[in-house]
Amino acid sequence: MAEQSPSPLVLIVEDDDQMRRYLRTGLTAHGYRLLEAGTAAEGIRLATEYPPDVVLLDLGLPDRDGIEVARRIREWSTAPILVLSARGQEAQKVAALDAGADDYLVKPFGFDELLARIRVGLRHAAKGPEGDVVRSGALVLDLGRRRVEVAGKEIHLTPIEYRILATLAKHADRVVTHRQLLQEVWGPRSTEQTHYLRVFMTHLRRKIERDPVRPRLLQTEPGVGYRLRSDEPA
Ligand code: CA
Repeated sequence: MAEQSPSPLVLIVEDDDQMRRYLRTGLTAHGYRLLEAGTAAEGIRLATEYPPDVVLLDLGLPDRDGIEVARRIREWSTAPILVLSARGQEAQKVAALDAGADDYLVKPFGFDELLARIRVGLRHAAKGPEGDVVRSGALVLDLGRRRVEVAGKEIHLTPIEYRILATLAKHADRVVTHRQLLQEVWGPRSTEQTHYLRVFMTHLRRKIERDPVRPRLLQTEPGVGYRLRSDEPA
């Protein structure tokens, strides 16, 4: 972050006072500016009036579902939307991600994890993914040149494997849902074939992971999708 630029503006859409206080205390201490909404309607209104740099979005809101908030904000804003979900909200979490949210955290979550996810969101929003080189451990993926290296050696991926990996790399460190991956790789009509993905992930892991049984780079988000870890710059 450049020193003269104002600190990022975070919009919190959350009806639980205790959770809001937790977020407010921690984020203020880390220099973020805040906007707070306790309802979906207020969240959408604030987002429109004061375009935020990041949105933290609870799903269980008193007036409308958080999924609707994600969809509405995504109609005009590219700000990263980070869903704060409770355990057992798998289906809603996936729906929110498919509606345009970027990532999620399951309550209760640690503050360091939240800060890391906010940084990932801001970084992606700032630079955009095109032509990037994504590094993750020994893996180097050059999206501009369509070249994949592991430990300095070029590896061969099938076209499907490459598209899966490139899709995950464009969203590095953020979760990509099964539906999003299937749409990107196989097209809009193939969103139910999640078993394909499992097979290709196994192949990909054999090629890029040091220990494919305990993957460190290509992580499974159970019931939701996959996430490619990149090396977060300091
Ligand atoms: Ca709630």
